[in-house]
Amino acid sequence: MKVVVDEGAGFCRGVTRAIKLIEEELDRDGEIYVRGELIHNRLEMNRLHQKGLMVTEELEPIKNKRLFIRTHGEGKEIFEQASRLGIQVTNATCPLVKRSQLIVDQAFIKGYQIVIVGKREHPEVKGLLSYCNGQGMVVLKPSDLEIVNIRKKTLLIAQTTVSPAIFHRIRRLMEKRVGDLKIYNTICGFVGEREKSLRQFARCCDTIVFIGGKNSSNTRFLYKACRSANPSSYFVEDVDEIRDEWFGDSQSVGISGSASTPMWQIMRAKEYIRQIKPNRG
Ligand code: SF4
Repeated sequence: MKVVVDEGAGFCRGVTRAIKLIEEELDRDGEIYVRGELIHNRLEMNRLHQKGLMVTEELEPIKNKRLFIRTHGEGKEIFEQASRLGIQVTNATCPLVKRSQLIVDQAFIKGYQIVIVGKREHPEVKGLLSYCNGQGMVVLKPSDLEIVNIRKKTLLIAQTTVSPAIFHRIRRLMEKRVGDLKIYNTICGFVGEREKSLRQFARCCDTIVFIGGKNSSNTRFLYKACRSANPSSYFVEDVDEIRDEWFGDSQSVGISGSASTPMWQIMRAKEYIRQIKPNRG
């Protein structure tokens, strides 16, 4: 049975950079805190936790300690609070998210109404809202547009990981309604490309094993795309969930994952699957 690894699998650029930074920080000084999960992958979080990464929501308890900012970025108030509490900050905000923050910041200063296509509860969106004093509007479906004042000059921007189809649907509606509209398509190229290349890869093998954190919405979204391209696709968090019977008739198995699946997990799955002797009976 041939086992192939998807060339597009592994971390995106932003996560690669963040993991490199955190490894350096942990090797230098051990204990460092992050607000929420650094990456939506339980196994990678466990590995980093063993090296000294701790999760916190509140900053008070980590006074004078160290805080690591995730790729999603944080709101301005977090940086201000950290500075008041003597917390040393290492900022791994993805440069693409940083760019969106600057766009919102400058447009807000110039008096634009800010409309963000994304999920209100997503940390990146919460961060972006802080750059317009919480006065931005978050929309995801056409009916959400009722709150937009069509007579005001407006900036339309996207959460970097929002579905391109959703963004363009909202964009088209806004173009029809709002006279003075500035549009920034800030969707990360990696996200759109990844879906396309994953679909292609999924069609090339009899069976696909897709690895990733089940708590990651982007991972679940990519798995759905994978499964729609190849119905013999299976989603696992780790090798112990892989079942021999999935490979009975398979001549080829493809292994893939999301932008938050570390390469070491992919390679471990590859080794594991190579040992399997499919029962062709
Ligand atoms: S998915 Fe894109 S925007 Fe998000 S961290 Fe990765 S490179 Fe940055």
